[in-house]
Amino acid sequence: MSGSNVGCWPAALTAEMLDKAGVPNVLWGWWSFSLTNVYHPFPEVEFVVVDDKLDAAVAALKTSNRMRFCADPNCPETRADKYPNERQPRYVNQATSQHMISPAMAAQIMATNRFHILADQHFHLDARGGRFSILRLYRKSRMLWWLPEIPLGPVGNDDLILSTDPSIPASRENGGMGTGPWTDLYPVKTLRAARLYESVILLFCIHWAAADESYDVLDNMVSTGVMDTKKEDKSKNPVYVEIRDNLKPEFKAVWDSFHPPVPRTTPRTENINFPLLRLRKKLLAGELSQSLNMPPLPLINPNALVRLPDIE
Ligand SMILES: [Zn+2]
Repeated sequence: MSGSNVGCWPAALTAEMLDKAGVPNVLWGWWSFSLTNVYHPFPEVEFVVVDDKLDAAVAALKTSNRMRFCADPNCPETRADKYPNERQPRYVNQATSQHMISPAMAAQIMATNRFHILADQHFHLDARGGRFSILRLYRKSRMLWWLPEIPLGPVGNDDLILSTDPSIPASRENGGMGTGPWTDLYPVKTLRAARLYESVILLFCIHWAAADESYDVLDNMVSTGVMDTKKEDKSKNPVYVEIRDNLKPEFKAVWDSFHPPVPRTTPRTENINFPLLRLRKKLLAGELSQSLNMPPLPLINPNALVRLPDIE
């Protein structure tokens, strides 16, 4: 089998091994988007596990001959940026704005998965995996602190859906935009589309202006992970409708700002990010249910991104 609808074997292998080891786990990140939203053929596979089972997860996965545990402090995975030496002044002629690097290098540098949130642990995947290269494990308290529970085993609930669920939108081969459902693989739990979007927005709030630029990947997930933004009328897109109709109320203004159903015909009256920054302000002020047990903010670069006007 080939193509995007074959699914993601490292995700299925990881879920099966962690389920057997008694480790509650959830697929997150680009492959969660690829399953429930839009296909992104990235080599990194990301899971969230409950905090007190992280060591058990590592121990279980170490028994697989298809992945190799890595604790090398010099591994590129220990940096949020895949190309830390490639900064814009190095590849753009400041006088002419001409690019001074090859199109292939430019594509790598501009890739939406250039940055990532640093994992708590990671494995390198067997080269036989082809396009897959990295498995990242994150503690739930850093990524999905607001999620009430991750059940053990292949069961869904109001927040989580299985990769084999027939209600998952069609793969690209079958007229959709994603890769699912993964009917030939072990069932993998992941966030339902609206919860996945909310998770990214909340992490975007936490990583806003982070000095390591980890916000970049969250910005990209918002802009390209959800749907084909070039489609003119999104209101007929089933993924768009599912997310919009199932978002919790506190996310509606952010959604409307980032994803208007039809292209705007009038200029914006304010910065596209201001609704997100208002949500962030409430989150940090302890005014949201998601403020409870919120993870600490990373090191911030106050000049990195826009700020709300002082008046707000
Ligand atoms: Zn490594």
